[in-house]
Amino acid sequence: MAVKMEVAPSDLDSWTLEAAPSIPSSALVNPLAMLRALCRQESSYGANPVPRHEAIWCPNEHDKQWRDMHKVATARHRDWGCLACCSYGVMQPFYHTLVDHGILLDPTPLLDQRIAFDKAVALLIKKILKQRPQSIFGIGDMWNSGSCNDLIHPTNYMNSLEHHYNEELKRL
Ligand SMILES: [Zn+2]
Repeated sequence: MAVKMEVAPSDLDSWTLEAAPSIPSSALVNPLAMLRALCRQESSYGANPVPRHEAIWCPNEHDKQWRDMHKVATARHRDWGCLACCSYGVMQPFYHTLVDHGILLDPTPLLDQRIAFDKAVALLIKKILKQRPQSIFGIGDMWNSGSCNDLIHPTNYMNSLEHHYNEELKRL
């Protein structure tokens, strides 16, 4: 049997509709349009939700000095191999970020697209409650660079997400 990672548009529609009411968005950001914009940005609406390997966090790509400095990432890699260096699913949360937020430890369920989506939504909720982004730019900053309250602003990502978001708003 052939296995496909791809998510059907009708599934993505129902997943995002179902999840939107649970998103504690600021009054300035529409949760459904935000979710759909993130799915478009990260996986072309589920057409390309394959696990992506982040070589910069892979102990195999670094020397002993790096591994000594990054003991947690190295230990997780010892347990799970390069499944611990990937981001997953239609919204592409990074494995280490999910673990650091207490959402999971075992990465293997993330190969199920529905589970990967639910875990991404859980992470999004935790991050919004903690960081309180006030705009779609803040959401993009938070999701791509980790925080919307620091000095790192991935402007290409933020602008692209805003573009997708505005198109989604027109469709609501
Ligand atoms: Zn790796």
